[in-house]
Amino acid sequence: MAKQPFACGECNQILPEPENKKDPVQCPHCPNSPVTTDWQGFVVILNPGRSEVAKRLNITRPGNYALKVNIR
Ligand SMILES: [Zn+2]
Repeated sequence: MAKQPFACGECNQILPEPENKKDPVQCPHCPNSPVTTDWQGFVVILNPGRSEVAKRLNITRPGNYALKVNIR
């Protein structure tokens, strides 16, 4: 199985691997928020305005998101 990607602890977005593997993974929208591989429930949001899941998670941008991100 492929390595679990990181998710943003603030906006729940699934984050792509940085081009340079030495760079830290960081959310482009909330650069100061923690990121973690400890998350569950992959969901693709295509139309945030029409998605109940997007409303529940306060998602305003289309993209790939985790339903639950575990930040300690
Ligand atoms: Zn974020």
